[in-house]
Amino acid sequence: MQYVSTAASADAGCVFCRALAARDDKTALIVHRGERAFLILNAFPYASGHLMATLVRHGAGLLDATPAELTEVMALVQLGLRALRTAYGPDGFNVGVNEGRVAGAGVPEHLHLHVVPRWNGDSNFMSVVGEVRVLPESLEATYDRLSAALHS
Ligand SMILES: [Zn+2]
Repeated sequence: MQYVSTAASADAGCVFCRALAARDDKTALIVHRGERAFLILNAFPYASGHLMATLVRHGAGLLDATPAELTEVMALVQLGLRALRTAYGPDGFNVGVNEGRVAGAGVPEHLHLHVVPRWNGDSNFMSVVGEVRVLPESLEATYDRLSAALHS
């Protein structure tokens, strides 16, 4: 499964480090910054509102993350779930990790937990992987809805 764009090639650098270094969080799709972790929209979402709770430190995969990093990234998963519930009212969520490139991690250098809202009767999570996805709203609209929910 490839959740994150393959644009994160060695030549292109690290998409998460670039996003963190960008001056404009909206352009970078970062909806919340914490000390050790942040919430960022997936640029190629499987559903509107597809977030990633991601560690700030480059080189911190699941095997290398510290207890403090693990605590904060899970707290941001919960924050993201709450914001998604407020903004979208989904029926459930998929929350998951791909550890290592062979397992589908597009950016294995930063632990990131995918948070995907689900609705009764929507496409099966596995069946949509790899297919062209048609989303009902733009990333910009998703950004605005989630930012409002996070900061209300
Ligand atoms: Zn990085």
